[in-house]
Amino acid sequence: MEGIALAARERGLLEVAITDHGPNVVVSGVRDLSCYKRVRGDIDRLDISDIRVLVGAEANIVDLAGTLDIPEDVYMDLDVLICGLHPYTIPGSWGDGWRLFGRNHLRHLGKGWRERAVAANTKATVMALENNPVDILSHPGLFFQVDIEEVARACVREGVLFEINCGHHHPPLEDVKIALEAGVDIIINSDAHFCDTVGMMEYGSGLVEKLGIPLERVVNRRGGEEGWIGKKRKMKC
Ligand SMILES: [Zn+2]
Repeated sequence: MEGIALAARERGLLEVAITDHGPNVVVSGVRDLSCYKRVRGDIDRLDISDIRVLVGAEANIVDLAGTLDIPEDVYMDLDVLICGLHPYTIPGSWGDGWRLFGRNHLRHLGKGWRERAVAANTKATVMALENNPVDILSHPGLFFQVDIEEVARACVREGVLFEINCGHHHPPLEDVKIALEAGVDIIINSDAHFCDTVGMMEYGSGLVEKLGIPLERVVNRRGGEEGWIGKKRKMKC
């Protein structure tokens, strides 16, 4: 964490968020939910000036009802709540395992299979945004194809930021264009898992340029609005 904070400061960032995956994803998830408290403690003990380090989580959507693998008593204490669909997620039930994750593996079999997979992915994503105080939807459509317009409209309704993920070079330009037309605000994220890639935003800044995205729609630009983080959870307290 210290390395990431120092790398972020060195690259001129004013804020960086540590957002480990929720526990229900194989290999990359946290071992247990107490991890987020430990991260908070470690960050509080860091003595680094000129950079604000936030504690967050990237929750996994585990079923068709949009349930997250991070419960309310944990996410209420976080600065940033991200959510998304991920491969190798441990589903909420066998039925959801099939309807949401199983179908995705079979989407190449034909149009009908693909349409059912897209409908399930879209439904789970929209429900996750409607039922949880999410700040950011991560890499919309990556690994799990969604109806981008419908998901973008849900982001607008629920005040959720649409992520441009520079680590995965995702979403593609056409999808970002559709989302912008639906009215989303954007956050550009390096998805850095290592110090080397902290602050690497070239893919996102390239899209800003190519699509002429007005800077006021990119929340993490320099001089952007402060205090959007965790707003919804603070309101709920
Ligand atoms: Zn992710």
